Amino acid sequence: MKERTPLVAGNWKMLGDAASNTALLDRMRSAFDGGNFARIQALICPPFPYLALAADRLRSSPVVWGAQDVSDQAEGAFTGEVSANMLRDLGCTHAIVGHSERRGMHGETDTVVASKAHRLIAAGICPIICVGESLAQRQSHLTEAVLAHQIDAVVGVVKGGAAVIAYEPIWAIGSGRAATPEMAQAAHAFIRARLQAGGAPADQIRVIYGGSVGAASASALFVQPDIDGALVGGASRNADDFVAICESATQAKF
Ligand code: PEP
Repeated sequence: MKERTPLVAGNWKMLGDAASNTALLDRMRSAFDGGNFARIQALICPPFPYLALAADRLRSSPVVWGAQDVSDQAEGAFTGEVSANMLRDLGCTHAIVGHSERRGMHGETDTVVASKAHRLIAAGICPIICVGESLAQRQSHLTEAVLAHQIDAVVGVVKGGAAVIAYEPIWAIGSGRAATPEMAQAAHAFIRARLQAGGAPADQIRVIYGGSVGAASASALFVQPDIDGALVGGASRNADDFVAICESATQAKF
């Protein structure tokens, strides 16, 4: 029995419009209202402009909502940025930081990712901190070295325990090629041990897997002892698939 509540988080990236996102939120809401998902936490992370829509459509439902990013600054002249306090005003419970698309395309460093996580925690929002290696790094046997570096950068920030780590091997994101359950479990166990070594309450911190999770691959991942849920990209844009993944999390031997 796992003591950590499984988290299934949907990352909608920069997809959808008001009409399609409303329809998707409403389909998810009715599935969750009619189902039994009390053993898990389900989260939707739409693009910033649809957070108020998510708050409106999901209010009083079992599904919570969060953001895909946040500023590393508290407030001020930072055109285009969104602060942690603003996310809190919108009812966000979580926010993703350090997604590989932001690290890779926007040059976010480990230091910036740690600052973002710090801002969120200070605002009472749980950061979902993404870590993971590239294919070249895996093939060069550098996976653990990369993960160690990324975890060490945030371990001081997550010492309070109110944080989630998402292990997202970059080669698995959007590729249709999820890590095998054994491969993911090995990385998660390494991350948990590294958190522990850094003085963080590793038993309390959820470590979720991301990278081509679908309805078919979810169950085998969720039964692994150190996999506490999933960060879901593509499949979270389909209500049936996302709900099926949540059902797998509910049924796994937690
Ligand atoms: C992601 O973007 O975080 C992700 C895991 O995407 P996908 O599920 O599509 O691989």
